[in-house]
Amino acid sequence: MEQGGSGYRVEIASNSRSKCKGSLCGRSKIPAGAVRFGTFVDSGRFQSWAWKHWGCVTPRMLKNVKNRLGEDDLRNTLDGITALPDEWIDKIIRAVQEGHVAAEDERESKKIANGMKASTSTSIRSDKKPSMVPPKVVRKTKRHHVTTKSVLSDSDDEAEFTGSSEEYDSD
Ligand SMILES: [Zn+2]
Repeated sequence: MEQGGSGYRVEIASNSRSKCKGSLCGRSKIPAGAVRFGTFVDSGRFQSWAWKHWGCVTPRMLKNVKNRLGEDDLRNTLDGITALPDEWIDKIIRAVQEGHVAAEDERESKKIANGMKASTSTSIRSDKKPSMVPPKVVRKTKRHHVTTKSVLSDSDDEAEFTGSSEEYDSD
């Protein structure tokens, strides 16, 4: 099994089974073909990657990446980055340097959340005008059942585990 390495990894999702750990998108699934950002999690019981849409990566997480890997040599220190297209490599390096993902990427993740909201609400009633109220996405479920923690003790919410492993890739 592949080890955690630096503790972070970026890659193009090869399937749609992983669920985003970010809140921006409403914790939806990461579609195959999308760039996803992983944090290695070692619970003692099992090792796994916690994935996020690139647009859901938080400034705090980027700061952790910067602290751990630096910002000048990410091509060599960040797992998987060189397998991505050049524009993505640039995008990711820039985000780490600037401390936040590009606004356009953040919008992409918000769109996912809004899309979920729109599709459920229109199926019920479509005569309401599109609301500007942020989607009420259930995002902060209680953590009392969280049984695992990240090896990266300074990481934020990227390693919230529900205890079930079926949503994580086993590869
Ligand atoms: Zn997401």
